[in-house]
Amino acid sequence: MTSLSSARPEFKMSPGCSSADSIAELRRYINDLTDLEAMQVAIGIDIGGSPPLYLEKMIVVCLDTETYHRQPKMLTEIGISTFTRQDSQAALDSPGPHSEKRCKGDPERNRFGQTRFVNKEQAIMVLEEIFAFSINGRDKSMLCPVVCLGHGVSRHLETLRDNLGFNIQNLGTIVRVVDIETIDHDLAYSSWDQPVSLRTICDGYYITAENLYTAGNNAMYTAICAVRHAMGRDTAREARKPMDEVVEEIAEHTKGVDQPVGKKNLCTRCGRFNHRIPQCKAVHVRCSTCAEKGFWRASKMHVDSVCPHKGWS
Ligand SMILES: [Zn+2]
Ligand SMILES: [Zn+2]
Repeated sequence: MTSLSSARPEFKMSPGCSSADSIAELRRYINDLTDLEAMQVAIGIDIGGSPPLYLEKMIVVCLDTETYHRQPKMLTEIGISTFTRQDSQAALDSPGPHSEKRCKGDPERNRFGQTRFVNKEQAIMVLEEIFAFSINGRDKSMLCPVVCLGHGVSRHLETLRDNLGFNIQNLGTIVRVVDIETIDHDLAYSSWDQPVSLRTICDGYYITAENLYTAGNNAMYTAICAVRHAMGRDTAREARKPMDEVVEEIAEHTKGVDQPVGKKNLCTRCGRFNHRIPQCKAVHVRCSTCAEKGFWRASKMHVDSVCPHKGWS
């Protein structure tokens, strides 16, 4: 894409070789770094030393999950935002105001990207597709090393394990799990005594974060702020473009990214597939699952097929 990336030595895989050894070597290298340094490496910043060449193939997957508020914690939403190190590094020479070029990734939900309603099998399929991504789009023995990013990310990984039986570590591609809270601590922006909220981090960059409890938004705001943290605050001070304007452009850009799996127009009130809740014309809805559990208010808000208490089917 740019002379900067083509000037770097090109990684070549020997014929018949799998990516496992290269990923293991990269994992050893990145394990010695702090979360801040790992994020800097992931966006293409040279922090010195001799990183393994397979680093070039790295992708960052930012993850958020949302659960129904009652116990047991039922998974209701997965938010994902991804970008490649190569694209990010290519933008390094002219990152734009607030490093906006780095943030145009592949989120698929809500304000950013597109929303899809999936069943359990489809959810696992999408996650496997994202976390075990072929370096050439075909050969599944040659996979991209992945940095998994999030806010309180270990909680989200646990939610995926508990609800879907999906453990990202089993895919063999994860070289590092990075938490924006730890990056914030690494930068001494917050103390270790208290967990820092994503809203506080967004406020630090004058981002008006909307609906942070929507998984897609949370994943994208986390990715944007993690990139900003890795770049350092100086570039933010120099930038003349308001950060909200940058975020709005990212939202528009990512709406065109289509996700072929799952249903686009599910009404989570009446359960039909041709509209969303604001267009719902159903007069009364009733959920017998919620009624049986004594959740009277919830029982009048949706039908059984879309009941969050039924779990994934
Ligand atoms: Zn409806
Ligand atoms: Zn229900």
